[in-house]
Amino acid sequence: MIHGSTTTCDTCLASCCRLLVRLLPGDQVPGHLLAEDDHGLTVMARGGDGWCVALDRGSLRCTIYAVRPQLCRVFEAGSPECLEERAADGLPP
Ligand code: SF4
Ligand code: SF4
Repeated sequence: MIHGSTTTCDTCLASCCRLLVRLLPGDQVPGHLLAEDDHGLTVMARGGDGWCVALDRGSLRCTIYAVRPQLCRVFEAGSPECLEERAADGLPP
């Protein structure tokens, strides 16, 4: 039996990159990747497939990793929110 298995993004479909990501003061994301939500707040734009436009569809990697929004930085692999998104895609913890 394996104890303490760790959730890793390498076994994921970038499930969390379909969530609505609001920009916070200090975020420095290039403007062409941004949109407005229903409340007029600035968010990461998403494509017709639902994923953030900054996600490389082939590698499932963030193309703006160095300047990704603060909300993306604090989203932890293995957190309840992460496991919820993985489960929605049929992925194990
Ligand atoms: S949902 Fe979790 S495992 Fe998947 S990419 Fe996001 S943080 Fe990583
Ligand atoms: S900015 Fe990067 S980490 Fe954040 S949702 Fe988009 S692709 Fe994912």
